[in-house]
Amino acid sequence: MHSTNQKSDITALFDPKVIEKPLDALRRIWGYQDFRGKQADVIRHILAGNDALVLFPTGKGKSLCFQLPGVCLPGVTVVVSPLVALMRDQVEELKALGVEAECLWSQQSEEESRAIRSKLRAGKLKLIYVTPERVVLPGFADLFGTVPISLIAIDECHCVSSWGHNFRKDYLGLAKLKELYPGVPRIALTATADPHTRDDIIRQLELDDAVIFMDSFDRPNISYHIAERDNARTQLLRFLQRHDGSSGIVYCLSRRKVEETAIWLNDHGIKARPYHAGMDPNVKAQNQDAFRMEEELCLVATVAFGMGINKPNVRYVAHLDLPSSLEGYYQETGRAGRDGLPSEALMIYGMQDIVQRQRMIDEGDATDEIKRIERAKLSALLGICETAGCRRRAILSHFGESAPAHCGNCDTCKNPVETWDGSEASIKALAAIYRTGERFGAAHVIDVLLGKPTERAQKFGHDELAVFGVGKELSVHAWQSVVRQLLALGYIRVAHDEYGALKLEPSAHAVFKKEVAVVLRRDTIDAVRKRERGKPVASAARSGLATEDERLFQALRAKRLAISKELGVAPYVVFPDTTLIAFATIRPRTEKEMLAISGVGATKFSRYGLQFMEIIADG
Ligand code: ADP
Ligand code: ZN
Repeated sequence: MHSTNQKSDITALFDPKVIEKPLDALRRIWGYQDFRGKQADVIRHILAGNDALVLFPTGKGKSLCFQLPGVCLPGVTVVVSPLVALMRDQVEELKALGVEAECLWSQQSEEESRAIRSKLRAGKLKLIYVTPERVVLPGFADLFGTVPISLIAIDECHCVSSWGHNFRKDYLGLAKLKELYPGVPRIALTATADPHTRDDIIRQLELDDAVIFMDSFDRPNISYHIAERDNARTQLLRFLQRHDGSSGIVYCLSRRKVEETAIWLNDHGIKARPYHAGMDPNVKAQNQDAFRMEEELCLVATVAFGMGINKPNVRYVAHLDLPSSLEGYYQETGRAGRDGLPSEALMIYGMQDIVQRQRMIDEGDATDEIKRIERAKLSALLGICETAGCRRRAILSHFGESAPAHCGNCDTCKNPVETWDGSEASIKALAAIYRTGERFGAAHVIDVLLGKPTERAQKFGHDELAVFGVGKELSVHAWQSVVRQLLALGYIRVAHDEYGALKLEPSAHAVFKKEVAVVLRRDTIDAVRKRERGKPVASAARSGLATEDERLFQALRAKRLAISKELGVAPYVVFPDTTLIAFATIRPRTEKEMLAISGVGATKFSRYGLQFMEIIADG
């Protein structure tokens, strides 16, 4: 690893190998005024012929890091991408910008694929997208033997790591590209940054000489909310009603729950479609496509729906079940707000999730070592769920990044959670578990604490115990919260081989002996209910538009939809929301004024700039 060689400013860079200055291309084609974050550093580095590993969170603009060099370099840039949906989406966007780009995939007609090949041979393509399995086939080398490759980009490169959850065997073959095309710079990109995956990427792709470019993983425009499950569907409905008019994703754990939730939402006035791996492939593709094309659709999905989403205006992501891990949660919520506009993430979870997840780990057939890792991952996730501090800070610190004590844009920052010294209550709960023989689940333990003369209590003589009725000062709900937090804190566990009995963990002794204080969150469902009650907000109102600007924005949005239908491309391919918002507030009246707006490049302006200008003039 060596450090970035600090060449001159990017504006001054004009290598004879480069056919257009990067900044000129950025302004002319993309219509962006400037590079964002570390884009300029990466691009400068690539154009100087070096390898790079780019670790930016979703929405920081990774694609530009290879698309722009692709345009500026004389030959063709090969982009390896794991999903056809993703490739086609990017190609569609590039074409809308007037860039010569294509993708090769197995379901193309022979005619189509022949046309693309001949364009490639004739040197007419700037970027070509391919799947990993194709790159390593001999046919690929034959095809590319005759064309000058300027750059190789490996997108979603975490797929090479068996550590993460998107492992793709075909990615392992990509190491060969180094030998096949010696001297051609390679850029690998991902939004996954955990050190283990990163080391895998470097090793598997032989990127030892690559400079690593990393950006803060914070996504300040996403607001994080984690709520205790009360009535999940009602909680979800309230959340979705606040997002009326925009589009988002609701994640569920099981296929069945996906189907049922989608039906239920439609019955309750929310336009929703399901998506999971077990569906008819045609319906699945249709639903994915609907999500790209429609602006008000809620997609209810399992985590099978993910990587292929390029849609920049996903306004919300909700989890109805505990996600697989904190890494998974951050990836999934990160699909909201790629465009930088305010977006929301909601997770609803309860004790059942913890119990179920522990059971999945315990009953799985993984090795003890893997089970240990899975338990650690679960406990990291529960730590975020149960924190009384800032969620964002806790998440970022898990990823090794420091952050201010309060972000101001998560539920605990907006509505500070009270904490209380739960040591006494914890001792009572632990004692009730212990005295009843560590043979019962939470419901019975809580009955004992509350002194409920149930049949079971009488049958086992639990009504005779000293702990019987010692917890009358707290409600059932408060005790559930105590037990859940004790689980999350690791003082107790659920024994799945014994019908969900609660058991003490060795660390509980310190609580008994009062060596540690147990600080608990005071969550009350009532407070959650109050918190979630909010007025419905129209999509653009959240970005602070005045009423008349909002009206114009809606008119522009309707125009965009019409154009998108006419061209058969997704609305965001025509112009992103950010550009429409700028139109509605700045109200450009001349070509020059319009071209000065971020997202308006020469091609888009010539294709439909005037149509929008007319609406602005009327507005
Ligand atoms: P990532 O791949 O990192 O998730 P994208 O490449 O999809 O991010 O970019 C996120 C959004 O930011 C896109 O809508 C893109 O057009 C926009 N974007 C990227 N670079 C810039 C820039 N320099 N100026 C303005 N917008 C940008
Ligand atoms: Zn916060």
